[in-house]
Amino acid sequence: MNQINRKTPAAQSCPICGKPVDPEFKPFCSKRCADLDLHRWLSGVYTIPTKDDEDEDGERPAEAEAGDK
Ligand SMILES: [Zn+2]
Repeated sequence: MNQINRKTPAAQSCPICGKPVDPEFKPFCSKRCADLDLHRWLSGVYTIPTKDDEDEDGERPAEAEAGDK
């Protein structure tokens, strides 16, 4: 069952600077690049507008439960 993840090549390149990846800082080449990506990722996440499903604001069938008792 360990043939599933065989797609990943041994020699990857850092997504930040393109250098060979260091297994210790996978998938980056160094801690610096890992930190860089983390900061980039964090700031990106909070600025990217996400599509919120408005399902929760729909009708609430549970309201009928508060009937007479
Ligand atoms: Zn790098």
